[in-house]
Amino acid sequence: MTNKSHKYLVIPGPVEVREEILQAQTKWMIGHRSKSFEELFASLQTKLRQAFVTSSRVFVSGSSGTGLWEGAARNCIRDGHKALHLVGGAFSERWAEVSQLNGKQVDVISVEWGKAHTPEMVAEALQKSRYDAVCIVHNETSTGVTNPVKAIAEVVRQYEDTLVLVDTVSGFLGAELRVDEWGIDLALTSSQKAFALPPGLAFAAVSDRVLERAKQVTNRGYYFDFVEIEASLKKNNTPSTPPVSLMFAADQQLTDVLAEGLEARWARHTQMRDMTTAWAQQRAFGVFAQESYWSPTVTCVANGRGIDVDEMAKFMGGKGFSMDKGYGKIKGKTFRIAHMGDMQPTTLEEVLSGIDEFVGA
Ligand SMILES: *Cc1c(COP(=O)(O)O)cnc(C)c1O
Repeated sequence: MTNKSHKYLVIPGPVEVREEILQAQTKWMIGHRSKSFEELFASLQTKLRQAFVTSSRVFVSGSSGTGLWEGAARNCIRDGHKALHLVGGAFSERWAEVSQLNGKQVDVISVEWGKAHTPEMVAEALQKSRYDAVCIVHNETSTGVTNPVKAIAEVVRQYEDTLVLVDTVSGFLGAELRVDEWGIDLALTSSQKAFALPPGLAFAAVSDRVLERAKQVTNRGYYFDFVEIEASLKKNNTPSTPPVSLMFAADQQLTDVLAEGLEARWARHTQMRDMTTAWAQQRAFGVFAQESYWSPTVTCVANGRGIDVDEMAKFMGGKGFSMDKGYGKIKGKTFRIAHMGDMQPTTLEEVLSGIDEFVGA
């Protein structure tokens, strides 16, 4: 670390950003209606399509991921139609609420926190009712569960009018995701999770089916009107002023991510997941999430030893690490170790041995 007062972020967002990426934000400003900006946008677009494994467009939004939740609700669900939300943690709960607050009718399939959704649950719901969209959180950051998106999408794709919408905010670039091959219509993410950028940008891979649907909705709002965003995107631009500095950083980060290789990046995350879950079990903490759905990007450690999580975080702060203390209703009963972004296994080892020192293991 170049700055002693900086603590390395082990929290599940925002995550640690490498110095080269922070530096990329300090380039001279350019006007967003200039040729230089069009080039930046086009460069980002090419790399983003590779990163999402899609040949469709990828929207770049000057907002956090939450903004694209609103966009998804407003553009993908017609009046008088319904969305099916799969809820099993703090973020999937909030996404369902966002759709409702945008005036949409929402049904939910709820599972206990820490459990995953199965394709069977979704198949049953789709037999009973018609939906404009099924909304799935790829990686539930509050509980450390990765849902079987590929298998669920396969079920949904049997219904022609039902779009597959995926929140991969904390999964993207850490957990395997193949937008076209898996039949996903919309996959949205934020910059500050496994993408390892500063906060402030959101991205969404968007299918033609989504755009056709959007045209059938009367009130799409303004800022997240997908039809307008698409019209600008075709000219390598955005409808309103974008966060240009963050886009410089994103362009650099995507170059580095693609140089590492998507599969290698996914494998590094899986390796860190395995290190963390094995450690949690050996130390008699336990893993909160249902086995076989453990997230490659964040482990929700069950606090089986009943340690004082605040004291642990304080101790780790002294070692230069900023720690999480658990989220929402499972705070303290659990704490999360994020192993996402550009974190290397050697850094994770330091984190785990630091906690060992705290508990006296
Ligand atoms: C962090 C997070 C969000 C919220 O994203 P913002 O960028 O903070 O708006 C949504 N979903 C999941 C799964 C998240 O982890």
